[in-house]
Amino acid sequence: MRRITAALCAAALLAAGAHAQGIKDFLTQVMGKWTAPFEPFNLIGNIYYVGTDGIAVYVIKTSEGLILMDTAVPQSTGMIKDNIAKLGFTPGDIKVILNSHAHFDHTGGFAEMKQETGAQLVAGERDKPLLEGGYYPGDEKDADVSFEPVKVDRTVKEGDKVTLGDTTLLAHEMPGHTPGCTSWEMTVKDGKEDRDVLFFCSGTVALNRLVGQPTYPGIVEDYRSTYVKAKAMHPDVLLGPHPEVYGMQAKRAQMKDGAPNPFVKPGELATYVAGLEQDFDKQLAKQTAALQKAN
Ligand SMILES: [Zn+2]
Repeated sequence: MRRITAALCAAALLAAGAHAQGIKDFLTQVMGKWTAPFEPFNLIGNIYYVGTDGIAVYVIKTSEGLILMDTAVPQSTGMIKDNIAKLGFTPGDIKVILNSHAHFDHTGGFAEMKQETGAQLVAGERDKPLLEGGYYPGDEKDADVSFEPVKVDRTVKEGDKVTLGDTTLLAHEMPGHTPGCTSWEMTVKDGKEDRDVLFFCSGTVALNRLVGQPTYPGIVEDYRSTYVKAKAMHPDVLLGPHPEVYGMQAKRAQMKDGAPNPFVKPGELATYVAGLEQDFDKQLAKQTAALQKAN
């Protein structure tokens, strides 16, 4: 019995080591793009892009100040603040900070931003412990994916609304990528038209473990429920926490005065989610096969 336990422990340690190395390898690949600058711009209506080339951050201008949606990795906080200032906004006018999900590449500047602006941080209820602990779920001790812990002032669940001045955002629980992954929906004016905008939380597997010792219990069912929910939504404008979710750079290049806004693309979410689901099935099969092999 003891020998079996020891062997299992060794296998688990080996798997944990490989996982930590996997995280390092992944970050080496993406960090260049994640921290590369991108010129801030007015995306649509009162929504502005202030993120980097690889991580999306948004400012929403309201009649009572600014809403900030996410930050980027900790080392990019200065760049985000510069981008906000370049648009003529004052970071001090940020009254509310919203979170898509509690991963360090979107929360790395929260503590600093909150301290400097006194803004209220609003996040999905099940992500609160992650934000206040500053860790990646399932990899609590991995410094590569940790961030400065930050107090959450308000948590939201499905259907909750956040209002600042003339702007209201509606929260949609879309767990899987993180337990409290939250998509935010709002309406913007695009010329004379009203457009329904969805800041989709994320539905990629990323560094998550789906089987064996999953990142968190129930993760597979959560992903599945999120795909079902997303397929029933039909926003005019799809946005997300990384530019590649909605082809930001290509659309930005197409923007022209007097021409239709290229970010208006009904049906894009459905296509995107179909791809996500396929990838999820592949990753699930791969992780299951690897687990069976290890055992
Ligand atoms: Zn993430």
